[in-house]
Amino acid sequence: MLKKYYLLSPGPTPVPDSVLSAAAEPIIHHRTPEFSEIFMQVSEGLKYVFGTKEDVFILTSSGSGAMETAIVNTLSPGDRVISINGGKFGERWGNILKAYGVSVKEIVLDWGADFSKEQLAAELKANPGVKAVYATLSETSSGAIYDIKGFGEVVAQTEAILVVDGISGAGATPCPMDEWKVDIFVSGSQKSFMIPPGLAYIAFSPKAWKLVATAKLPRFYFDATKAKKNLEKQTTPWTPAVSLIIQQKKALDIIKSMGLEAMLEHHRILGEATRAGVNALGLELLAKKPGNILTAIKTPTGIDGSKLVKTMQAKYKAYIAGAQDPNKGKFFRIAHLGYMGGFDVITSLAALEMTLLDLGYSFEKGRSLAAAETILRENWK
Ligand SMILES: *Cc1c(COP(=O)(O)O)cnc(C)c1O
Repeated sequence: MLKKYYLLSPGPTPVPDSVLSAAAEPIIHHRTPEFSEIFMQVSEGLKYVFGTKEDVFILTSSGSGAMETAIVNTLSPGDRVISINGGKFGERWGNILKAYGVSVKEIVLDWGADFSKEQLAAELKANPGVKAVYATLSETSSGAIYDIKGFGEVVAQTEAILVVDGISGAGATPCPMDEWKVDIFVSGSQKSFMIPPGLAYIAFSPKAWKLVATAKLPRFYFDATKAKKNLEKQTTPWTPAVSLIIQQKKALDIIKSMGLEAMLEHHRILGEATRAGVNALGLELLAKKPGNILTAIKTPTGIDGSKLVKTMQAKYKAYIAGAQDPNKGKFFRIAHLGYMGGFDVITSLAALEMTLLDLGYSFEKGRSLAAAETILRENWK
């Protein structure tokens, strides 16, 4: 068989051809009106996806750089904060906070477990005076999504700011930043923004800017005040990733022409089709509240989860994702975000069925495809 490569991971995600070819255009200088025009269009487009009136800053880094930016610009050493850790990425909030000497009350959840706004309200009551709450919109390591709207209601009644990692969630599941009272929202380019890895995005609410004025943590490259001053001059403090920004302009044009609502609905359909397929095979989901970004599926008993992922990748070239440490092998993750279509769901499920047959799992062949096709066909517009 010709080894065609199928990228089915929750980041990086596939990039549309027109966006890929934009990277081959000659480089333009970044201190010119031509670049500034594109840069400001991207900045505006990001505001649309974030659902905010505030500035969205474009950083040359992976998503984690925006997470670090959120922390170093608003806190001082010894500040007390709450961090919700429901998996690998929630854990990353805690790791960055600890690296900067912040005093973190970490709420460690079982991977895939939910956390309610009532539980958060109780934590805030038990820990008065915390400066910030760190949450994840879509926990990419488990496929769970959290009640950011509810968290926003609860945190808004306190002095604390709500900081949300929307790196995989933005553009794929609803989270209108201003309406849901999110104070800092971060995202990255390689998930549903449909461009390669390398850019990170961040916006601050007025409540968060107030903290910026007093924050004493060391910062230089990720200084939000420098970014703000430069954005006023339609530029960035440092050399921006020119080609990625041009690619983001093209990808945002696609998102805007489809409309954010339609984009979210598209993800809902792909999520539903994937879950229907998985259920039809008698497999179980990991997340209590699964999102429409990716689906984490428990490895059936008697099957080696690492071997499943390895077979799908090495034999079928279907690059789904495994489970990260400390849950390696216990489940696997099929993504359906960004530039993925209905037939990418079919590809994932077909590759999964063939792999399960290879590994000796017994089920009625084709059932997942039939279930997914039903959902896709009913919703195809
Ligand atoms: C991908 C991802 C990150 C990490 O981003 P990098 O680009 O690898 O730095 C953080 N949080 C979530 C939820 C993600 O999906």
